[in-house]
Amino acid sequence: MGIKVGPVDLLIDGVWTKSAKSFPVYNPTDTSVLAEVADATVQDAISSVDSAHEAFQTFSQTSPRSRAEILRKAFEIMSSEIDYCAELISLENGKALKDAKAESVYAAEFFRWFSEEASRVAGDFRYSPNRDKTIITDHKPIGVAALITPWNFPAAMATRKIGPAFAAGCTMILKPASETPLTALWVADVMQRAGAPKGVVNVLTTSKSSEIISTIMKDERVKTVSFTGSTYVGKILLHQAADSVMRCSMELGGNAPFVVLEGADVDSAVAGAMVAKMRNGGAACTAANRFYIHESVSKEFSQKFGAALGSLKVGPGVNKDTDLGAMVSIKERDKIVELIEQARSEGGNVVSTTKVSESGAFLSPHIISGVKHGSVLTKEEIFGPVAPIIEFQKQSDAIEMANDTEYGLISYVYAKDGAEGIKVARQMDTGMVAINRGIASDPAAPFGGMKESGLGREGGFAGIHEFLEPQYFAVDL
Ligand code: NAP
Repeated sequence: MGIKVGPVDLLIDGVWTKSAKSFPVYNPTDTSVLAEVADATVQDAISSVDSAHEAFQTFSQTSPRSRAEILRKAFEIMSSEIDYCAELISLENGKALKDAKAESVYAAEFFRWFSEEASRVAGDFRYSPNRDKTIITDHKPIGVAALITPWNFPAAMATRKIGPAFAAGCTMILKPASETPLTALWVADVMQRAGAPKGVVNVLTTSKSSEIISTIMKDERVKTVSFTGSTYVGKILLHQAADSVMRCSMELGGNAPFVVLEGADVDSAVAGAMVAKMRNGGAACTAANRFYIHESVSKEFSQKFGAALGSLKVGPGVNKDTDLGAMVSIKERDKIVELIEQARSEGGNVVSTTKVSESGAFLSPHIISGVKHGSVLTKEEIFGPVAPIIEFQKQSDAIEMANDTEYGLISYVYAKDGAEGIKVARQMDTGMVAINRGIASDPAAPFGGMKESGLGREGGFAGIHEFLEPQYFAVDL
């Protein structure tokens, strides 16, 4: 390990605070223990709400410009320490340094974007249609926010929530995934160094997420929950939120179709598929999960895609030449192996493209042809380097199969030109569509899903509004 791991304590009321117990964070490359982090208790959870609630009374009254300047400073600190951030992510998550670096830059951009957004929140002024009153619409920071993040993008999922909450004037309690808490603690440290007032950003690391989060969700001082993670846990939180009719932002699971239409350029589709499938080792909610390829190009696409997957270097994430690092844990790797075996038993032609080390949570990229729509890999979120190929003949069938899922986060369409791509994209039931490209995520764009992939949008102009409450004044001027 080349770097010194940053804070390992809880951040409550601006103070790094020890808890009675700790829990281990593992390096999935060799399963060694990287660090012991504080294991928050219920009392710590209550203290963090006390702190955020108290800080809200003054922070919500600060000027947007002053909040913007702190976020801008956080962007600058993070940008100047990108290599540290990337190595920390790679160590606890296992991903390749290249992916970790890309994530770190993307994560810092959320601070920059929301520093710019902080002072651009527009109100509204208009007359009612029959001119009996004036309608003024204002926006207030909603209050204390609970932010819950997953392990797959430990920096970016934290900044995508801290950035808009802070810009809006909210105070917050961040609870990162127990597998990757170190990066989130470091991001919070960046916020402290940038000048975040005490109590505005609190962080609870815990091995008992359910107990700690339900304590926070029951506290009437907490006004919104912003969650990124599985649809399964998202639904649990939605049930809990119902008790106090708490505002919810939900960024949940995905099952992205990648459709290559007749006449599309195969080489660019393969290049896009490599990004859509292999960014973050396949552990992305936006990862292409199932490939619907027109019969006229399916053989060529599969050959070229298989060759490209086979050229990837698999190894320890922190090695500079690694393309695909370890999965986040042995447990996560084994879940994917089980899916591969199920696909084989359903008649899929499974090709493992590379030989990988048996120790550590490594998994070779797999391409699986002859997959039938409706089989396991077209239904389950794979979250790893496995690409099932399904051949189609009619465009309308491809669209129908693409939409045949409870998820609706993103889809990918490769078409002969942009016009055909947009025509097909309009028929996709997903919050985002990447057309003739393998990636859509951008801090300046509204990220989010339809159907069971979530509620609300992060980033873009919409992101800050997840933390603002509109208030309308009816006025006789
Ligand atoms: P997860 O199991 O749902 O966990 C997400 C977070 O929720 C973690 O911090 C976890 O803590 C916590 N958690 C787990 N059970 C909880 C409970 N009962 N009450 C409160 N909190 C609880 O998801 P994951 O495995 O970390 O991440 C993978 C999933 O995230 C995938 O489905 C992926 O698609 C989704 N994701 C979505 C987006 C998006 O923007 N739509 C982005 C990234 C990932 P512990 O770590 O302690 O369990």
